Amino acid sequence: MNKRFEFNALPFDGPFDKQLLSLVVPLFNERPMLPIFFDRVLTVLATLDLRWEIVLVDDGSDDGSAQYIRSVIDRTPGVRLIKLSRNFGKEAAMTAGLEHARGDAVIVLDADLQDPPEQIPAMVECWQSGVDVVLMQRRSRAGETVFKRWSAHLFYRLLNRTSRTNIPVDTGDFRLMSRKAVSALLVLTERNRYMKGLFAWIGMPTQVIQYDREPRVAGETKWDYPGLVGLALEGLTSFSISPLRWATVIGLIAASMGAVFGLWIVVKAIMLGDATSGYPSLVALISFLGGIQLMSVGIVGEYVGKTYMESKQRPIYLTEDVVESRDGLRQQAKQKMTETRHVKAV
Ligand code: UDP
Ligand code: MG
Repeated sequence: MNKRFEFNALPFDGPFDKQLLSLVVPLFNERPMLPIFFDRVLTVLATLDLRWEIVLVDDGSDDGSAQYIRSVIDRTPGVRLIKLSRNFGKEAAMTAGLEHARGDAVIVLDADLQDPPEQIPAMVECWQSGVDVVLMQRRSRAGETVFKRWSAHLFYRLLNRTSRTNIPVDTGDFRLMSRKAVSALLVLTERNRYMKGLFAWIGMPTQVIQYDREPRVAGETKWDYPGLVGLALEGLTSFSISPLRWATVIGLIAASMGAVFGLWIVVKAIMLGDATSGYPSLVALISFLGGIQLMSVGIVGEYVGKTYMESKQRPIYLTEDVVESRDGLRQQAKQKMTETRHVKAV
């Protein structure tokens, strides 16, 4: 744990003719991962002919992750900790990291090493050849259940059918973005942040690299199925209003079916003198229509809710602390008083 990292690479304060690469790492309760994380990432960074910085965003961990990172900062220049005031979720944590990153290029990387840092040199090479976005596409997803793979596959396809923004299949948040791409992304100030969609929305020259997604090295995933369903709904409703249209179309279909059925009953009664035994069909109709109505109200509600959340214009995240080391000196900058006061008032 107290291993010293001594490398010849050029961190933040290296010669300024070199370009600066930022790694943005959102993390939430990843304490068991951190020693291995630093070991592997710093080894890779040491091989690059670039200045670098690692921006770790602690998304409200309560397992001592922040303390460990502080101890790394004490002995490793170029590492920075952005500590959020509570758990805001990965999307907000990534936004915080992107806002604080100063690099000419920024790579977003998970702390659990599922996005292998050994891919960084290839990503940097692509970027240096002139593209603005280097997208990492999963060739395989080791350590994930068949159901998770299958549901992810289905979700991406549904998403792309419904929205005009083409969100590439089987890509996560693991990617490199040029300064130009990051600036474009930061212009999007919406509160409901479905990052994969926002990443895709900005466009820009993109190159795809395939990689094998590794299983988590330690700790456990923060996503459970309700969480993933929530994220999926967020994705669908953030990038298209076609679910609203579906509600209208389904409503129209149900109404037409009802009308035809009604006509059929009348015709049957007149022509055949056949009095309809109404009760079972009535129950079926009422529950069918009731279901459609509730679903439609729910869909409309999703959008109304989103509009409500957006209208409050709250910040996407709040920082509690920014800790960084330059030349081995630890600098600790308390956030602006107003923000701190706001946190206390909540
Ligand atoms: N994470 C975060 N805030 C959260 C949940 C997750 O910053 O509220 C981080 C987590 O620490 C990890 C990354 O986001 O670095 C991906 O999370 P996880 O591995 O749990 O997701 P999965 O890889 O299973 O999709
Ligand atoms: Mg993971």
